[in-house]
Amino acid sequence: DLGSDVEIEADIREDVDEDDLLGGLAIESTDEISVPDRLVDQVIGQEHARDVIMKAAKQRRHVMMIGSPGTGKSMLAKAMSELLPREELQDVLVYHNPDDGNQPKVRTVPAGKGDQIVEAHKEEARKRNQMRSFLMWIIIAIVLGYSLIIAQQVLLGILAAGIIYLAFRYGSRGSDAMIPNLIVNNADQKAAPFQDATGAHAGALLGDVRHDPFQSGGMETPSHDRVEPGAIHKASKGVLFIDEINTLDVRSQQHLMTAIQEGEFGITGQSERSSGAMVQTEPVPTDFIMIAAGNLDAMENMHPALRSRIKGYGYEVYMDDTIEDTPDMRRKYARFVAQEVANDGRLPAFTAEAVEEIILEARRRAGRKGHLTLKFRNLGGLVRVAGDIARGEAADWTTRDHVLQAKRRARSIEQQIADQYIERRKDYELSVNEGFVTGRVNGLAVMGQDSGIMLPVMAEVTPSQGPGQVIATGQLKEMAEESVQNVSAIIKKFSNQDLSEMDVHVQFVQTGQQGVDGDSASITVATAVISALEDIPIDQSVAMTGSLSVRGDVLPVGGVTHKIEAAAKAGCDTVIIPAANEQDVMIEDEYKEMVDIIPVSHISEVLDVALEGEPEKDSLVDRLKSITGSALNKGKGV
Ligand code: ADP
Repeated sequence: DLGSDVEIEADIREDVDEDDLLGGLAIESTDEISVPDRLVDQVIGQEHARDVIMKAAKQRRHVMMIGSPGTGKSMLAKAMSELLPREELQDVLVYHNPDDGNQPKVRTVPAGKGDQIVEAHKEEARKRNQMRSFLMWIIIAIVLGYSLIIAQQVLLGILAAGIIYLAFRYGSRGSDAMIPNLIVNNADQKAAPFQDATGAHAGALLGDVRHDPFQSGGMETPSHDRVEPGAIHKASKGVLFIDEINTLDVRSQQHLMTAIQEGEFGITGQSERSSGAMVQTEPVPTDFIMIAAGNLDAMENMHPALRSRIKGYGYEVYMDDTIEDTPDMRRKYARFVAQEVANDGRLPAFTAEAVEEIILEARRRAGRKGHLTLKFRNLGGLVRVAGDIARGEAADWTTRDHVLQAKRRARSIEQQIADQYIERRKDYELSVNEGFVTGRVNGLAVMGQDSGIMLPVMAEVTPSQGPGQVIATGQLKEMAEESVQNVSAIIKKFSNQDLSEMDVHVQFVQTGQQGVDGDSASITVATAVISALEDIPIDQSVAMTGSLSVRGDVLPVGGVTHKIEAAAKAGCDTVIIPAANEQDVMIEDEYKEMVDIIPVSHISEVLDVALEGEPEKDSLVDRLKSITGSALNKGKGV
């Protein structure tokens, strides 16, 4: 079994309520959940990737993993190394080559033997040295005796003894050269090796030979002793993991390919002008399984030959970003919290409520109905921040409140910008959240991936000189034009005003915000235009989001949760969202009390809520409702 198939070790209630946030776990804190020892058993979800890893481990194939950061690529690569047989591991020794000092010899022996061989050589050298010292002192004694007794010369005796001493010392250096350099030592490896070479420079990846400042004159370190292994050598019989593979320089990618093809790769000095560059060892085994990872971009930019190498002789997998939200899965998320606490070692255990809050956050971050996010690195970050806050307070437990605080603290850059932006707008009184204004609507948008922002839209209608046009500025121009076209089909039906003889000006009241997505603002634009056209004011305490069809249907959009929270923060008390998005709403309790959420499915409902309650509006909404049917058929012609 691997990962998710491993059942949770904790008390689970008999009949589990589908909606129970902890999936029926009967626990008071994470202390009661035991965490599996093996990394492979800790992997949650990623079923496809896990299958591939298991297969690839059996068949010794390379794997390319593409997906979002923090979804378990390196974790799975490491897990793979735990699945590989340990018996095949080898040690690698580099020997001095008496025929050519710059071409050291390479020998491989079964794991554990390397140490023994080096020890044996050291022992031998020690014995030889003892013998030498013994000889040296005898000769010195004889020479000293001779000079003192026969020649009666103290100085001469000391001088001669010194020369003899140096000669022996110098001579013994040669015997060090006999001790091999153990560059790969697997004696204590409990599993097949795992090497993460992400961002490694050439030397760290391919091996290197250190520079020797004393290249000649007898002071040098023998070349075989300066040889250092690379990740490709240390990973032999195990796994070589390289994330962001496209950032590896082309030359390294080429060498990597050679290593994969040949299964061995000699070590040479990587810096050209160093003495190490003259040294080239015999081939060193590089019999690793490569797991290359990255995002989609990485795949396009990697060396095509390397890519096709993996494609032809291995597997490619795409990682999941989210997973179905089931009671069983939620139990695994609870175990994940327990695991992060255990791994860190210093965090107070999480209470059941704190775990529930983390699971809610996993739901919110999935941004998809009925799913949980698989971006575990970030989720783990939240767990640690919450635990740290609890620890800072010397609390016994990490509570729900600590998690809420952590969420506020662990905000993404986009969220922080959005917050600042909201603050600044408040300073300039740019946000309006009360009263009634004609042609002005509080729209909502998403910045980055996880922050909402209120984005007001103003519309004005003026008689046109020529054919009527939509005049909008900025990056959202296209969207504005489209939504005006969509409403014009409906407007034609009930209004005496002919939009084709009007210029419609649409302005997004923004101060140069970047990264705002536009397609979800079309009901906003439509509402603003209708308000301006009919001269009926709009309730400024209402914010809205939704896409609009030619028929006047309100279509679902992304990021509703973040948008609602943004509206609440900006002080609005009603938020209109597409009915189809109702189940995506996962706002925090504190916001629930601040705003009313009104799901709608037709523009007439939007106007009903947003326009000021007057007889004109009522008749307008009635008319809108009544023409919907015919708009269905004729709207297409617009
Ligand atoms: P990647 O290599 O995809 O960027 P990692 O494998 O380094 O991500 O994941 C970072 C951390 O997040 C892991 O150490 C692990 O704690 C957690 N993690 C990531 N994916 C999973 C998963 N599928 N199941 C359990 N934990 C995960």
